[in-house]
Amino acid sequence: MPTPIGIDLGTTHSLVAWVTPTGGAVAIQNCDSEVLVPSVVHYREDGGVVVGTGAMAQALDHPEATIASAKRLMGRGADDPETKRLGSYRYASDEGPVVKFDVGGGKVVTPIEVSAEILRELKNRAIDDLGDVGAAVITVPAYFDDAQRQATKDAAKLAGLDVLRLLNEPTAAALAYGLASKENGVFAVYDLGGGTFDITILVLDDGVFQVKSTGGDSQLGGDDLDRALAGVFLEDLAYADGSEVPSNIARALLSGARRVKHALSDVEVVDAEIELPDGRKVERRITRADFDALVAPIIKRTGVACRRALRDAGLSKDDIDGVILVGGATRTPIVRSYVAEVFGKEALASIDPDQVVALGAAQQADLLGGESRRDDVLLLDVLPLSLGLETMGGVAEKILPRNTAIPVAAAQVFTTYADDQTGFDLHVVQGERELVEDCRSLARFTLKGIPPMAAGLARLEVRFEVNADGMLSVSAQEQRTGIHQEVEVKPSYGLTDDQIEAMLLDAYEHGGDDVAKRMLREQQVDAARVLSSIEGALGADAALLEEGEEARIREAMKRLSDAAAESTDHRVIASRIEELDELSTPFAGRRMDRSILDALRGRAIGAIEDETKDAKGVETHLAEEAEKYAQERQDS
Ligand code: ADP
Ligand code: MG
Repeated sequence: MPTPIGIDLGTTHSLVAWVTPTGGAVAIQNCDSEVLVPSVVHYREDGGVVVGTGAMAQALDHPEATIASAKRLMGRGADDPETKRLGSYRYASDEGPVVKFDVGGGKVVTPIEVSAEILRELKNRAIDDLGDVGAAVITVPAYFDDAQRQATKDAAKLAGLDVLRLLNEPTAAALAYGLASKENGVFAVYDLGGGTFDITILVLDDGVFQVKSTGGDSQLGGDDLDRALAGVFLEDLAYADGSEVPSNIARALLSGARRVKHALSDVEVVDAEIELPDGRKVERRITRADFDALVAPIIKRTGVACRRALRDAGLSKDDIDGVILVGGATRTPIVRSYVAEVFGKEALASIDPDQVVALGAAQQADLLGGESRRDDVLLLDVLPLSLGLETMGGVAEKILPRNTAIPVAAAQVFTTYADDQTGFDLHVVQGERELVEDCRSLARFTLKGIPPMAAGLARLEVRFEVNADGMLSVSAQEQRTGIHQEVEVKPSYGLTDDQIEAMLLDAYEHGGDDVAKRMLREQQVDAARVLSSIEGALGADAALLEEGEEARIREAMKRLSDAAAESTDHRVIASRIEELDELSTPFAGRRMDRSILDALRGRAIGAIEDETKDAKGVETHLAEEAEKYAQERQDS
């Protein structure tokens, strides 16, 4: 039977692992005893492809033919603004649903193909070691959306690998620590890689892992520590402020800084010696204390995301039963002590943080496709962004908040805004911001054929349902008539993790601003409603107006409509609404009296038709009541 394998397809490094016949998971080494494959692919001029360390060596001389960090671009479109920001590659086109790199010699490749090369390399390593390999469990970040997951599966297909399952990286780490056998618990997985930071809160309930919340920073990782340290070495080279440092010098400093950083994970003092390509040499003593002071501000940025993830999960640090460290950068001692501080407990670190994800994936592969096959391990996912509907005034009403575990369904009832409205326009949006214009539009559909009713009478139930694959369907039903409509929406298609993060960050930064905007919109909608209802009343019941009353009301209406059109302060509009309200209250009172009297009389007539027995009595009684009411109103 071919051996199932587990693969950690990382942004910086990738690796493959399997479960030995004795039951332990181990990572597979190459002939040089290396376990980690740098996630770098070089396309040679002669058409050959080099993966890993060999590819890295080409990055300096052939930057455009050497693709690193392709994972960041998985599932992204070429026109995605993030695409250009994330990679300094030569792109084959500015358009299209998939990024394409021009790697020279007329060759154009997508991030899917680049990832496929890495997967092929890992597969070949496994074949060298095991003889024959079976299907694979491949890990992805917990926040990967449909498009990114699909792209990962496509890469596996290209590499000739059968995928048993895509597994969330933090869940894989938890499996490696054997936490599944605990049955219940809450765990935080802190993953600091080369260029990304991910924090995940996992809940284990009856042996089933559920991702409670995810967060992080896609622009934060061990590379930032290298840059900070390289900056210190640069001080010795006397470049004028702001002057361009040649790129080969910068690279030499960066790789020197990385070596020093790694050494400082084991020893307290390093005497750095970095030879530069121009023959100069940087020599400097760096102590761990120097380094800690230098990088502390960078490390502290991870705490913000950790606290936010806890908040999103509705938990405090005291609820956390265990913290797991993932990613090479968590070897740095100050990272470990900071994590202990944030969560109030020492993190689990007995398994190599570089390997823990792949080892967990291998165990999962073994359970799904190996000798010890089991299929009762369920792993749930969460919504990366809130899903909602546009309501009056362009306000986004959230129906399923972000980080809700899927599958899930929720319904909300809406009503009509205008009299005799016979259709509803439904606009499904995704995002954290208050206003629709700042969210992502997912779908629009119309519910038609509703019989004319007074505003507010129709009852429209809108139901959002997200299935286990993350597919959203929205259905709407007018409850009086039973009229029904349904659409399927792909919630995150083409929406990238970075976009998601940018949107979250945006919502966070604009929090106060957004609320003010939302209130302004609501007041504007309110103003329009008040104005149109008074306009209607003036037309319908002119006879009830007193001398000069209409002119006074109209003047207040003008003041309100001016404020609604011009003011950016919701309080101004609110005070004009109040003013108009006050001024028109006597008129409204008279109208109300009239309509109540009308209603009572109307009921009397209705009652006569029904109550043939004592018709006269009923009518008299109601008429008396109507008079009594009118009298009371006059008295008060
Ligand atoms: P990714 O998941 O993004 O592929 P990794 O988990 O491989 O990333 O982490 C890579 C990062 O870990 C790099 O910044 C690397 O410098 C850092 N790293 C590796 N070993 C050590 C060490 N001994 N001490 C400190 N940092 C380390
Ligand atoms: Mg990783």
